[in-house]
Amino acid sequence: MIIVMMGPPGAGKGTQSARLQREHGLVQLSTGDMLRDAVDKKTDVGVKAKGFMDAGQLVPDQVVIDIIAERIDRQDCENGFILDGFPRTIPQAEALDGMLADRGREVHAALELKVVEHALVERVVGRFFCCNCGTFYHDQFNLPKVEGVCDVCGSKEFGRRKDDDEATVRERFAAYRAKTAPVLPYYQERGLLKQVDGLRSIAQVAQQIDDALGVHNLAPRC
Ligand code: AMP
Repeated sequence: MIIVMMGPPGAGKGTQSARLQREHGLVQLSTGDMLRDAVDKKTDVGVKAKGFMDAGQLVPDQVVIDIIAERIDRQDCENGFILDGFPRTIPQAEALDGMLADRGREVHAALELKVVEHALVERVVGRFFCCNCGTFYHDQFNLPKVEGVCDVCGSKEFGRRKDDDEATVRERFAAYRAKTAPVLPYYQERGLLKQVDGLRSIAQVAQQIDDALGVHNLAPRC
């Protein structure tokens, strides 16, 4: 099963993709994570991407298309994967269809996490994550149960994304509206778009996603 996860910054794409990976054995492929890793390692891709990311703009299509084309051929993608943050433009969506068709595969569903934008700025600006396992928390809405200790893995190291400051978040929203929102009709026309209410609790969103995908019986829940 190949799933495209869509929605503006802070909608919960990463959280729900990680859950689908844990519970249903699909691999989460986050272009944002791959690009941040490339920036940290100062690879050629990282050097190309850094300026765009720091400004909250999209990285050029061909850079991310090449990353995904290489990644989906790895063995762990054989049973299916979740594209978290890709495609983000119409040319990326077309390139994805082309690369999947070449491999005799296709997108099974595009999930849109629907949210109103004004509710998201404070969600994104206050968030931080565990440096060890990647679990997200929030200064106001979702603190670890024990202060300074990750609920999931016990690590005491936390970080914040460099592009989660308010000015950059607003740029990222603008990029979403201009370039990524037009991808929604692309999937709707193909009968693949499924919408869920992203403003509900994490558990309720998870339930809606599982219902939309009909994945309850894929694997036992943890
Ligand atoms: P994310 O972690 O998905 O919010 O992505 C962080 C940043 O990485 C974005 O603001 C973009 O600069 C870049 N990025 C991630 N995925 C893509 C993509 N599919 N196309 C272009 N830029 C991307």
